[in-house]
Amino acid sequence: MPSLDEKLEAILAEVIRRNEGEPEFHQAVREVLESLGRVVAKRPDYADGALIERICEPERQIIFRIPWTDDRGGVRINRGFRVQFNSALGPYKGGIRFHPSVNVGIIKFLGFEQTFKNALTGMPIGGGKGGSDFDPKGRSDAEIMRFCQSFMTELCRHLGEHTDVPAGDIGVGGREIGYMFGQYKRLTNRYEAGVLTGKGLSYGGSRARKEATGYGNTYFVQAMLLTRGRDFDGMRAVVSGSGNVAIYTMEKIASLGGRIMACSDSDGYVIDEAGIDLDLVKEIKEVRRERISEYARLKGTGAHYITGGSIWDVPCDVAMPSATQNELTGRDARALLRNGVIAVGEGANMPSTPEAIRIFQEAGVLFGPGKAANAGGVATSALEMQQNASRDSWTFEQTESRLASIMRNIHDICASTAEEYGTPGDYVLGANIAGFVRVAEAMRALGVI
Ligand code: NDP
Repeated sequence: MPSLDEKLEAILAEVIRRNEGEPEFHQAVREVLESLGRVVAKRPDYADGALIERICEPERQIIFRIPWTDDRGGVRINRGFRVQFNSALGPYKGGIRFHPSVNVGIIKFLGFEQTFKNALTGMPIGGGKGGSDFDPKGRSDAEIMRFCQSFMTELCRHLGEHTDVPAGDIGVGGREIGYMFGQYKRLTNRYEAGVLTGKGLSYGGSRARKEATGYGNTYFVQAMLLTRGRDFDGMRAVVSGSGNVAIYTMEKIASLGGRIMACSDSDGYVIDEAGIDLDLVKEIKEVRRERISEYARLKGTGAHYITGGSIWDVPCDVAMPSATQNELTGRDARALLRNGVIAVGEGANMPSTPEAIRIFQEAGVLFGPGKAANAGGVATSALEMQQNASRDSWTFEQTESRLASIMRNIHDICASTAEEYGTPGDYVLGANIAGFVRVAEAMRALGVI
């Protein structure tokens, strides 16, 4: 682990002391502070006025009770969170996650990452994140709707198109956004389309938003590959997860001539030597809402399902972790290296452990960190906000071409910043510094906030 200088070490120690029992948040802060040593050495004024300490402290944290009724009439309770991390660049913006592992530390790490990610897009959006420890698996449509309505009943008073604009994340897709928007509209008596993104096309959504995170990550990795004169054509790719980000990562890689060897869910993974059949994955996950094990059963020959295990044991040229945090460990990174991986693009937020990142970087593997590589989702959410504000609706091609150019810009600013700070090719350093500088400049201009 790179060491921190005395001042940054003291800041990290204070973050850990003030946010006890939140290891993911500590991990995310440490990674950014490790990059900031170079900035502070070159521009000591960035450490003045407790600027770094303020960036590590959320502006506001909301925790609330979510009572709801299940289909048998039983009353259930979950906990809801919204961490409004930083609004120096614009309204808080970041997704909502429904998963039993959600707690305030997870939401805080996601909000912290989101702040720098949103800055990297160059768009006027601050950082936030929210969610609940509600487990949507196995819940009926009616239960999901009642839960979403209860969640929004409290959350609505903290939102607004100029205040805080949530979107989806793990466990929250188009269906859930629809139920939440419906409840927001009832409670406020306003058709404020710009208050949520990831909406359906029939009520103010943007074309290409559903595809944006996966497509964007693919564009980012393509830009990294191009620096070495390579492209996706003929590459074998492994994509973890089989949700929104994974599905559209697979779709774009396949359209560029790559072959998808495997994908997964939290129970196990499937390998298909002929290349994963994406229509079948979509049918299982988006229509039937079943487990990925069904893939092997429905596909028959050539496909295998492995319960548990590590998807990173499957040989590939490109790895796209697209499920959840810390899903790719040091052990997994070594397995990928042995099998010849040349590039990694993080579709998920913080999916690689610090040890895995170090192994990839020391081996010269092209490594695209989530806060840069998966920024296409939030960037297209900002395009959705633009369309809502101007009561306009763009074509798929128009939106996708904006997304592609935003991803190229993010790649280029990460690459040029890494070079400026003395480590060409270190996209982690480039993303952390470029994101930090944008947020820091705005915060300084706004006074002690
Ligand atoms: P989805 O809920 O659509 O899909 C998540 C996928 O990851 C599912 O296949 C799920 O399997 C799997 N998964 C979730 N938790 C775990 C776990 N603890 N262990 C193993 N597998 C798990 O979510 P998204 O695709 O939207 O999000 C995936 C990642 O991408 C997250 O890290 C999210 O923060 C990040 N992201 C998402 C963006 C978006 O636009 N949606 C934007 C930027 C980042 P199962 O169904 O079995 O739980």
